[in-house]
Amino acid sequence: MSESLEAIAKKRKIEYFLVSWVDLFGNLRAKLVPSRAINGMQRDGAGFAGFAAWLDMTPAHPDLFAVPDPESLIQLPWQPQIGWVASDLWMDGKPVEASPRVALKRQLEKAKKKGFRMKTGVECEYHLVNSEGTDIADPADTESKPCYDQMALMRQYPVVSKICDAMIKLGWNPYQNDHEDANGQFEMNWDFDDALKTADRHVFFKYMVKSIAEEHGLRATFMPKPFKHLTGNGCHAHVSFWNNTGKKNLFLASGKKDKRGLGLSPLAYQALGGIMHSASDLAAIFNPTVNSYKRINAPRTTSGATWAPNTITYAGNNRTHMIRVPDDGRFELRLMDGASNPYLSQAGFLVAMLDGIDNNRDPGEPTHVNMYEEGHKVKTTRRLPLNLLDAIRSFDKNKILRAGLGDELVDAYVKLKLQSWDSYASHLSSWERDNTLDC
Ligand SMILES: [Mg+2]
Repeated sequence: MSESLEAIAKKRKIEYFLVSWVDLFGNLRAKLVPSRAINGMQRDGAGFAGFAAWLDMTPAHPDLFAVPDPESLIQLPWQPQIGWVASDLWMDGKPVEASPRVALKRQLEKAKKKGFRMKTGVECEYHLVNSEGTDIADPADTESKPCYDQMALMRQYPVVSKICDAMIKLGWNPYQNDHEDANGQFEMNWDFDDALKTADRHVFFKYMVKSIAEEHGLRATFMPKPFKHLTGNGCHAHVSFWNNTGKKNLFLASGKKDKRGLGLSPLAYQALGGIMHSASDLAAIFNPTVNSYKRINAPRTTSGATWAPNTITYAGNNRTHMIRVPDDGRFELRLMDGASNPYLSQAGFLVAMLDGIDNNRDPGEPTHVNMYEEGHKVKTTRRLPLNLLDAIRSFDKNKILRAGLGDELVDAYVKLKLQSWDSYASHLSSWERDNTLDC
């Protein structure tokens, strides 16, 4: 029996709950529910019209119910009278298969049956921009190599420290904040944890950063490539499998047994092999917007590197690859960007990892080269899709991801994303006019 949100509200003086959920495009939807009504919502869910969000539903569909998960409760540190709760979507008495949080929970359940507990940590990069979103917020942030720039970091101390203080209060164990590689770009890191907890926190982090930035007259964006000449916003994930008690890291090589010298177990290599096998199709969910493809495959930025992968390769502690093994017992997926859906991207790579383990997929030998300088010499690598349309089409055909995530989710996602592509393609850009007017 889960804890009563009404009782928690009384104890912690919560006046309102944000009963929240994330749609297929990663948009955060919510109802603000007074604590007096939360008991009924906890039992039956808060009602929504599914057609009004990015789910493949029509106005004729019955009510969609968001049933809050009390385990996910976060009391807003800057507005403690409000409690945020992540919710699972239900319709007609059944969970909605084509909804991201339900999809991740399904995969975690499958993994658990095999004796695996996935733990993850995410690195959510973001830009602080002006309130119109047209330029970076700090006009003095102009260094050509601005990464770790102390002055630029400290000019945003009021925003950054408020976010970090909030994470400390919430018990996330944040441990560092920095100015990243693009002018106006920041990253804040907190401890890794169970995958669902990390996904809920990831959703909340984006909301928190945007809210606190707005309080300071700024705007925060996680857009994959907000400025053409600057490094884009990645959302790298560090991944490991543990046993079901969460005490033993199953990705850690025992003794000095990893002949590739990366400190990974055979199980970790199989999981890694599964991701490499489906990577170009996973791009559809790791890099879910038209803009995402301007981050991967991008030309060199003013700082000297994009820090984003172009090809499906892995290596040790080398940031020019799609997968980096920074330390024993885990790997870092560097393909995801700031637009990736926190639940869907984790569900996606978990499907691929379980497939890798079930089918003993071999990732091959690591590629120990600087891919930005010598990538052209590596002949056997596969490239990532060049645009959203190619990614969606190949995701649609991937039998492994379809079997894992289910037809309902894949069909809904593909349909909505193709609509999004059509909307983009019908947009007449100034580039076309500049290059075609005199044809
Ligand atoms: Mg970073």
